[in-house]
Amino acid sequence: KKINVALIFGGKSGEHEVSLASASSIYQFIDKQKYNVFTIGITKEGNWLYYEGDVENIKNGDWEKLSNRNVNINLIPTANKNIGIEFEDNRFEKIDVLFPVLHGPFGEDGSIQGLFEISNIPYVGCGVLSSSVGMDKLICKKVFEQEGLPQVKYTYTTKWDFNKNKDKVLDEIEQKISYPIFIKPANLGSSVGISKAKNREELENGINEALKYDKRVILEEGINAREVEVSVLGNEEVCASVAGEIIPSKEFYDYEAKYLNESSKLIIPAKIDDEMMNKIKNMAIKAFKSIDASGLSRVDFFIEKDTNKIYVNEINTMPGFTNISMYPKLWEATGISYTHLIDKLINLAIKRHNDKC
Ligand code: ADP
Ligand code: MG
Ligand code: MG
Repeated sequence: KKINVALIFGGKSGEHEVSLASASSIYQFIDKQKYNVFTIGITKEGNWLYYEGDVENIKNGDWEKLSNRNVNINLIPTANKNIGIEFEDNRFEKIDVLFPVLHGPFGEDGSIQGLFEISNIPYVGCGVLSSSVGMDKLICKKVFEQEGLPQVKYTYTTKWDFNKNKDKVLDEIEQKISYPIFIKPANLGSSVGISKAKNREELENGINEALKYDKRVILEEGINAREVEVSVLGNEEVCASVAGEIIPSKEFYDYEAKYLNESSKLIIPAKIDDEMMNKIKNMAIKAFKSIDASGLSRVDFFIEKDTNKIYVNEINTMPGFTNISMYPKLWEATGISYTHLIDKLINLAIKRHNDKC
């Protein structure tokens, strides 16, 4: 019997479009002999809509107006409804596994994972805790620090502190770290709200900008570095792919360079020696385990150009997942095809669910 997969895409975050692209690829390449796929989109306003039809319409956004609003998606257990998809002709489909391919707030930060726990349905990817820790750059840095993972110098401020005593906060930042300084909202991804400051004026502006997205902001010493990424896969038994390198098309790897502009290059495997490759792979596994991740994550590193020192930058618990994204490309180079990878992730989701005590 085929397994019913609910592929959930879109979402209320700034990374809505990225999710549409990832979901289209998954829909296209998932093994249809093995899985029935039901596609559920979440609009930018947060409405859940059932969509059935051409995959092109997921990518271009037309799915929303083509969705079937008479289909009920029941995920919360109640006395008179079964958990699953209820069609207008009373047909009912049980969901065997949920595949949320959502990036950023609500989709990647543990919120939706909490809902899935309540539904008691297996779901692909990290659980509640690892999703929320992975999404929060500040808490994540503290966990990595505790594990002895090397990171660039950083500090942070909050909306409250910054608005109360701007000059004091700016002084303290300048004492702790030197320019250029990267300014990042604690709780986002895809470079949204991130800027690079070369002086105090830019620092102040950058903090104000980042505070539009989160009430906590991270300040990081900017380094001149190569950017290398590793894909991690597994639950208890965890594997790391070869590392790949990104050559951003712009000064830094911002939203535009990531998704809008095709000229950022991926070099797979990264041109680094075996010793460094192994070191980075082991650090990726350590980072994955430190936040109690499961299923998948992509761990991103900096290699400082002058010193060859390795720093962990961040972990992404739901990395870009189109068939040409770094995460699947790294697995392909390691011997796991995109279709096989999707299959493995679904199996890991079911296994984690069954292994729960
Ligand atoms: P996101 O989660 O949005 O991807 P990152 O922390 O990865 O945020 O930052 C986005 C990009 O900004 C990185 O890929 C890199 O190009 C650049 N960057 C971020 N922090 C630093 C830093 N400390 N030094 C140099 N470049 C950085
Ligand atoms: Mg990120
Ligand atoms: Mg990043």
